[in-house]
Amino acid sequence: MPQGFQYPANQCGLSATQAAFQPDVQPRREQSGQPCAQRQRGCLIGELHACGETVIIGAMSEIEIGHPVHPAKGTDAQANLDAAGLAALAVAIRRWASELGFSALSIGEAKLSPRAGEELRRWLAAGSHGDMDYMMRHALKRTHPAKLMPNVSRVISVRMPYWPDAAPAAEVLGNGALAYVSRYALGRDYHKTMRSRLQKLADRITCAVPADTRVFTDSAPVFETEFAQRSGLGWRGKHTLLIARDPEPKPSSGSCFFIGEIFIDLPLPVDAPVSGHCGRCTACLDACPTGAIIAPYRLDARRCISYLTVEHPGSIPEPLRPLLGNRIYGCDDCQLACPWNRRGPQSAEKDFAVRNGLDSASLVSLFAWSEAEFLQRTAGSPIRRIGHERWLRNIAVALGNAPRSPEHLAALRARAGDTSALVREHVQWALGRQF
Ligand code: SF4
Repeated sequence: MPQGFQYPANQCGLSATQAAFQPDVQPRREQSGQPCAQRQRGCLIGELHACGETVIIGAMSEIEIGHPVHPAKGTDAQANLDAAGLAALAVAIRRWASELGFSALSIGEAKLSPRAGEELRRWLAAGSHGDMDYMMRHALKRTHPAKLMPNVSRVISVRMPYWPDAAPAAEVLGNGALAYVSRYALGRDYHKTMRSRLQKLADRITCAVPADTRVFTDSAPVFETEFAQRSGLGWRGKHTLLIARDPEPKPSSGSCFFIGEIFIDLPLPVDAPVSGHCGRCTACLDACPTGAIIAPYRLDARRCISYLTVEHPGSIPEPLRPLLGNRIYGCDDCQLACPWNRRGPQSAEKDFAVRNGLDSASLVSLFAWSEAEFLQRTAGSPIRRIGHERWLRNIAVALGNAPRSPEHLAALRARAGDTSALVREHVQWALGRQF
């Protein structure tokens, strides 16, 4: 077996090997329950020497020849992994993340600064979370990751760009007869895509080394922007979202990406934070249609259009309705205004490609969807979770803001007797604006 590894090792420019292969008696399983199928199972014991550096063969062989290795606890390989091997493993994890479509990865300690906890407490005390009671209920878990995984040592943060090939946002926002859907929601539900990729990454790690992991993507009380910022995945902009600047391999920047995390019990080497680059810019504060960014780095969710159209279950406050314009699901205005998004990458991910022409559909056509049509056309989309009632509520507001026309009036009249009191109330408001 050592010869089997020496050949690819030489191909990689490694000058010498000392290795032995010990088959696993008990093949390991991925956390998904699947065995680490079609892969060489066993334990490599030994080292590779290259260019004067010692490289742990476990990590190197998996990278170069596609055969994961399972250093058993107590072996020399495991002992090495506990020291310099962790650095090699971190390199391997970055590479696997890239292969899975993540644009960047950072590793940080599984603890937050006292400042982050204090800011969260102040934000909650001010009621800025609106109806998002879960924020209050799970505040402790958000600031204490060990409440979610007691033996967590590091948080691996990843990002994946989502901006799809879609109708230009400015054109849709400028045409009051069209519906504007936030660009992150035009394709497949990102929770599904991110979660399955994160689990694949976690499985690759646990097939290579013994480790406990848990994956998250906006699905549990994880202070993800804070972890990502502390480990240098980007900096927190004044609009409160993470912004990244990637010099290589192709210069790009921006904030239009999803974030996910893997909690892991291995003490991997951590990455340093990056400095912020907002400077004196206030473009996002100035651009927010409802003034929801009440100060740099402070968002009042109760005024945020993303909150009002997605999270908020009840009646949309009347003073805010005219400010929503034609935004029927989410809002991108603070990101559209941000200079760092001028060179933002377009996502090549098929899952985020536009479905059902939602990038530039007319308000009237979407308002005509029955509940069955809504459920069928939003299957697998993040939009589905708001349900048909909130969907109609949001479009009714947009129709109230749309240019006066017989077509808009007729669409609203057709819903004036809707079974939902919430929809009827918003339709009445919109009819008042169309007369
Ligand atoms: S718009 Fe300006 S202030 Fe706001 S996040 Fe972007 S760079 Fe920072």
